[in-house]
This record gives sequence, C-alpha cells and structure tokens, in this order.
Amino acid sequence: MPIGTIIAQDNKDVISFEIGDFRVSTLSEKMPNGNPNILLGASENALQKYLPDGTFPMSVNSFLVRTPDKNVLIDAGLGRNLVANLQSLKVAPEQIHIILLTHMHGDHIGGLLRDGKVVFANADLYLSQAEYEHWIKSENKQALNVLAAYKDKLKFFVAEELGSKKSNLFTGFRGIAAYGHTPGHTAYLIESAGSRLLIWGDVAHVMAIQMPLPNVAVTYDSNAEQAIASRKKILDYVAKNKIPVGGMHIIFPAIGDIKAAQKGYEFKPFCECLGM
Ligand SMILES: [Zn+2]
Repeated sequence: MPIGTIIAQDNKDVISFEIGDFRVSTLSEKMPNGNPNILLGASENALQKYLPDGTFPMSVNSFLVRTPDKNVLIDAGLGRNLVANLQSLKVAPEQIHIILLTHMHGDHIGGLLRDGKVVFANADLYLSQAEYEHWIKSENKQALNVLAAYKDKLKFFVAEELGSKKSNLFTGFRGIAAYGHTPGHTAYLIESAGSRLLIWGDVAHVMAIQMPLPNVAVTYDSNAEQAIASRKKILDYVAKNKIPVGGMHIIFPAIGDIKAAQKGYEFKPFCECLGM
C-alpha cells in the first residue's frame, strides 16, 4: 500500500492512514476561525496576500498511532471530543498504552484529566526533559495538575537532533528537538517498514502564511527566534527527505507532504477530505 493510503474515514473529525505497519489516525477538534493578530512579523501586504479574508481556519488535533502491539496517543488536544473520537475507532481510554506530548500548552494536554482525574489510567506519559523542567518550575495550574496526576507515569527523554539515527524512545518512534514554541517543544518521527511521518506539534500554526513565509512567528511562541529557526530546519529536512508531516493546527486531515516552493514551502494534504 503506498504511504498515506486512507484506511477509513470514520467521521468528519477522524481519518486513518497507513504508514508502514502502523495505522495513524487524525483526531480533530474543530475550532472557530483564528485571528491574524496572533502573527508576528507578517507585513500588511503578506496578510492581504495570504489571508485575504482577514481570518484563517483553525483546528486542534491529536494523533493516534496503532502499532501491531501498542496504542500511542500523541497529544491530548482540548479534550472536548478526544474520548468520543477515540471511541469512533473502538479504542477506549484504558487501551492507550503511551502518550507522547509535544508540549504542555492547554490545547495539547486538555484531554489528560477529567474532573482532576487521570483519563488514561494505563498510559505512560512521555515528554522531553527540557519541557518538563520548564513547566515544573512554572505557576501554570493546568500543567502542574497534569504532572501531579501522572506523577508515577512520567517518562522523560532528551530530544534528538534531526537526522540522528539512535532511538531515544522505543521502536519506531523518536523525539526530535523543535524548541522555541516552548522550551522543550518536541516533534515525533515515526517509522515503520520504510515509511516515515513527522508529527510536528506546533511547528506551524497558520499554514496559509507560515509555509510561504516561515519567518512569521506567533505571539505565544516562548522564543520566536528559536521557533523560526526550528521551523525552517524541519521544513528543509522533511522537504529534502520527502517525509510527510502531521500537525496539531493543520486543518483536517492534518497530514500531508511538504515541498519546497518558489516562495518558502507548500503543503499538500493526503486527501481533499475536508467537510466530508
Ligand atoms: Zn497548540
């Protein structure tokens, strides 16, 4: 089966693709359109050219990766539809073995607790050492509550550079340093039977403008300059190595290919399956 073959579109928020022997599902939580005032470094001309409506479609996604022996959830979104989205794949929260966090902003950890209790009782929670160190010293209640509730389940790792061959996680998964959006922001490179996919977290928030202009940052990058450098490095790498990407704020189906373009880069979704 060619990479990215659709296995099933379970509903308008959930779609599953084949990546080698893994099944990767986008679990989408719809959001209202976004406001360009979150953008840093976009000229008036650029805004008019790339966001002519003065707005952009917004989505919050998590991804489920089903390997032959594990269910791995990457991020937990806002948590509004996460469990229902999993249920549409007949996966119960107790059947999640591993959760990988790209970072600890509220739209990525929202589904981890319900009424202060752990939602994924049988899962280990992985995050980069750098990300943990940032939040454990913060005063952010939501992040601290998650770290406290999952205390006995936390697994830390040192995120790697792109191109590194050693696995810092487990077979088929690597945590890649994509620092800047947060101090320990991590992308996950998945590999099965020669097929690869980079789930890149928040490497981009507004594809329509940050693909042609990767120097545009967002106000909630903790270090915009570092976030820009990470974005450019990753875009260059995935375009050269033909590695498809999945993103937490790319609109449905949120997975596709990146190509170098005349100006910056271009994203081509795996399917035109929006609004089905
Ligand atoms: Zn986010």
